[in-house]
Amino acid sequence: MGTSKRDWKTRVETLAHTRLNDCYQCGKCAAGCPRGVSMKLSPTRLMRAAQTGDVLEGAESDSIWRCVSCLTCSARCPKSCEVAGVIDAMRQIAIEENCASPEAAKIVAFQKAFLRSVRKNGRTNELEMVADFEIRHFLSRFELMGALKDATLGPKMLGKKKLHFKLGSPVKDKALVKRIFDKCGVKI
Ligand code: SF4
Ligand code: SF4
Repeated sequence: MGTSKRDWKTRVETLAHTRLNDCYQCGKCAAGCPRGVSMKLSPTRLMRAAQTGDVLEGAESDSIWRCVSCLTCSARCPKSCEVAGVIDAMRQIAIEENCASPEAAKIVAFQKAFLRSVRKNGRTNELEMVADFEIRHFLSRFELMGALKDATLGPKMLGKKKLHFKLGSPVKDKALVKRIFDKCGVKI
């Protein structure tokens, strides 16, 4: 049996730690969003989709990947709704359900590489993360030109110290990192 709209709504509320029914669609979150112009579904519209249990509508949209998690929407909400958290929950669901917008393939590949690096090391390991990202992105699109273009950027970034060869050491308490990921329910 498929997941009901009520279940989807509960899942988002649990992940985002917010009460979706508190949103009264005033539009203030969308009005202050610096990325709003590039989002087909505004933060207010995404809130409505979550509220009605149409979570997959948001999860399948590339709008959720346009968000830069600046938290302006959450800070401006007169009902203290965690709008950014709801969008993050939709991203998580998009990855779990494998229904992320193909338009966002590059961003999704980066998100996965970033989270995998943090989960493994407790912090990002730049070289490992970039290699993971390039492989994932290439495999998702088989876009050789894109991978080659990125490869030419590597030496330039190293020269400007924007990328570091040093692998860096993982944090000491990896068990704590694992507990954080488990508590957040993050699956990658
Ligand atoms: S600002 Fe808050 S109450 Fe208003 S639409 Fe956005 S989430 Fe809903
Ligand atoms: S957190 Fe995302 S949706 Fe909210 S204001 Fe910032 S960019 Fe817009």
